Amino acid sequence: MGAILKVEHVSKIYQADNGEIEALKDISFEVQEGEYIGIVGPSGSGKSTLLSIIAGLIKPTSGNVYINGNRISGISSDIGYMLQNDNLLEWRTIIRNVLFGLEIRKMLTEENIEYAEQLLKNYGLYEFRDKHPSQLSGGMRQRVALIRTLAVKPKILLLDEAFSALDYQTRLAVTDDVYQILKRENMTTLMVTHDIPESISMSDRVIVLSKRPAQIKHILNIEFPEDVRTPLLRRNNPNFGQYFNKIWRELDVHI
Ligand code: ADP
Ligand code: MG
Repeated sequence: MGAILKVEHVSKIYQADNGEIEALKDISFEVQEGEYIGIVGPSGSGKSTLLSIIAGLIKPTSGNVYINGNRISGISSDIGYMLQNDNLLEWRTIIRNVLFGLEIRKMLTEENIEYAEQLLKNYGLYEFRDKHPSQLSGGMRQRVALIRTLAVKPKILLLDEAFSALDYQTRLAVTDDVYQILKRENMTTLMVTHDIPESISMSDRVIVLSKRPAQIKHILNIEFPEDVRTPLLRRNNPNFGQYFNKIWRELDVHI
């Protein structure tokens, strides 16, 4: 089976007022369908740049990105993108927020609306469909944002520090929740985070980037016993600390 995502020799040099900024240097990796990939690296190393290139929002200086063998050349509905801010529209009800992505893509078909409603039902939000975002907790808002993103049926989901605005307790609960939704939907996910434990608790593999210009330092397979199925259980498993130490050493943080 071919990879759903192929990143091939991607480099990015920004032209800034005070000269060139080399953000990415020769990044190559492949992702299989249904995989959950964590991406960690020092702040300012080029993580968001990499996701923006995969999303088709910016062009690489050299190299290519392929989704199911097709080279991407711009923004595509194959990609779902979630950022730190949930970006819910306060004046819209929950259901109208969830349908917003379909609306702007002109994809409001009966079938798609039904799928969005089914997602709300499956993930415990259907009874809140006529409420407004301000009436929901931070965790529930994040779940709405995720469902809005999934409603357009992307092939790949990109998460850029998507949970970092939440307080610690909420973040633990939300990441557990999100992980289970994404695994159930068999979503291929790339998650950028500066939080090493978060990456270990959710990922099948973790890509460790160097400081700028970002190069791949290491790709780590994350393995836990069969019965350790959730991020919270992973955090309490003895393997967890070993992975933490490995990634910490790779990141080579100096203070
Ligand atoms: P990260 O997400 O890892 O913190 P970014 O990808 O946001 O890093 O940025 C990588 C580097 O590229 C940083 O030094 C940043 O200042 C620079 N950069 C990001 N976007 C631009 C841009 N549009 N123009 C010039 N430089 C940029
Ligand atoms: Mg960033």
